[in-house]
Amino acid sequence: MHASSTKSNQATVSAYASQDAVDPPDLDTSSRKWQVLKFGGTSVSSLERWQTIASTLRNRLDRGVRPFVVCSALSQVSNRLEALLAAAGEGEDVGSGIESLQKDHEALAADMGVDVEEHLGDTLEELRQVLEGIRLTREVTPRLRARVMSAGEMLSTKLGAAWLETQGIATSWQDARELLEAEIEPQVPPERQYLSATCHHAPDPDFQSRLADLDAEVVLTQGFVARLANGDTVLLGRGGSDTAAAYFATKLRAEHLEIWTDVPGMFTANPHSVHDARLLLHLGYAEAGELASKGAKVLHPRCIRAAQKYDVPIHVRCTPEPDLIGTVISRTAPSEPPQVKAVSERTGIVLVSMDVEGDWQGIGVIADIAACFKDHGLSIDLLASSQTNLTVALDPRANHLEQEVLEPVLADLAEVSEPRLIRPTATVSLVGTGIRAVLHQWATILDVFEDEDVYMVSQAANDLSLNFLVNESSADKLVRKIHDRLFNEESPAASFGPTWETLVAPEQKLAVRR
Ligand code: ADP
Ligand code: ASP
Ligand code: MG
Repeated sequence: MHASSTKSNQATVSAYASQDAVDPPDLDTSSRKWQVLKFGGTSVSSLERWQTIASTLRNRLDRGVRPFVVCSALSQVSNRLEALLAAAGEGEDVGSGIESLQKDHEALAADMGVDVEEHLGDTLEELRQVLEGIRLTREVTPRLRARVMSAGEMLSTKLGAAWLETQGIATSWQDARELLEAEIEPQVPPERQYLSATCHHAPDPDFQSRLADLDAEVVLTQGFVARLANGDTVLLGRGGSDTAAAYFATKLRAEHLEIWTDVPGMFTANPHSVHDARLLLHLGYAEAGELASKGAKVLHPRCIRAAQKYDVPIHVRCTPEPDLIGTVISRTAPSEPPQVKAVSERTGIVLVSMDVEGDWQGIGVIADIAACFKDHGLSIDLLASSQTNLTVALDPRANHLEQEVLEPVLADLAEVSEPRLIRPTATVSLVGTGIRAVLHQWATILDVFEDEDVYMVSQAANDLSLNFLVNESSADKLVRKIHDRLFNEESPAASFGPTWETLVAPEQKLAVRR
């Protein structure tokens, strides 16, 4: 941390306390407006966090707000369900894995004073049966995968709704599959239709009145989960609870969407690896979307796109530090001169480098290659082209990139090129507004790549990012070095708030709460 300005940073930090406590109550309940509040995995995993959720909801109810709550599965549960699916698919017995999931939910339920058998018994039984079916057939279809994965959100929300009731908050638990319907995307493979679906989310007056008529103060449902028209369960992609929450917010025409997570906002880098990352106070939808799609997983990129489409502002809030105001993403973010606002990384990227034969200015080379990816339902993330080679980057967050998926693609590509896989690689990205106008800032960081293999440099056509494709093992170190060069506590941009370590330092927590 840069000692010189730590003091000024600390002096201003109390300015970042939320206004929740001081807003005057709106007692006219007929004018209640919806607010959608989404709580991520770590935000629903302990009694203490649920107490924060309850006090936040009481605060909103006192102010005349109608809260719509969206929850993730308990922390790590989705990863554990994925592991159980893999084991069952190999014919292994997964009884002890299910036991251990049950035990963890029982431990939280015991802290909350909620009866597990009464509230979670059916979901756990269904999970056992579906996994047993998979074990016997050794086949994990996308349809069954979606059903198993959805159990995590079912369990957390059933627990949470039962507990909120015991706290005197009248809560209507809703099955998200009754509320969100997936769009049918022609030509997409079943993996994407079942595991990374998108949903209809236009403002919907019928939906609004259906929910407004519920006899409850709070509506609570699952993120990540929706249904197909035929009733099958589908998922919105890993990290997709944010997107579900955005869909609900736009359908309800909510005042805003709050994403409650384990960090107090979007930062100039992942604050868990760069501790002096600065809080980004305001962002426009486009720059926030670019940052999310370049690896800031605090928000799912599709969540921002959905909110932007119907202009629902997003507030990123911190469940362990509920008094902090976080980041506001909206159409009305103050406009600022071109600048780099964040540095980000994504690992697990697969590069396909294709040598192409052809005449000077040959026609249709890119189209032929793009058609191969399209035919196999793969989306291309970044692309660099020349007369003799075309290289594309594929993101595992948007595609299944197992060898058995890639092999048929490579076979088709071999008809039109000489393809070669390069993996594992990572993107290191500078994200901001008017990236082309700040060439002089790029210059100050370029020597950090001196000893690195850089496979591709890609400047985003929307002028919001500059991306370097490097070896995966180098990405973390490069992000830190670049952040050190570009940001410090004196960085002047109006949208930069305090550093993460200042915001979460024990003495500052006291200052903020006074
Ligand atoms: P949740 O379970 O609440 O959805 P996630 O783990 O999906 O939370 O997202 C929060 C995480 O995003 C943080 O713990 C942080 O490590 C990571 N992250 C990555 N980049 C950024 C960034 N630029 N700003 C804030 N958080 C970031
Ligand atoms: N539980 C899901 C996941 O871990 C969805 C989410 O939390 O956003 O991917
Ligand atoms: Mg998340």
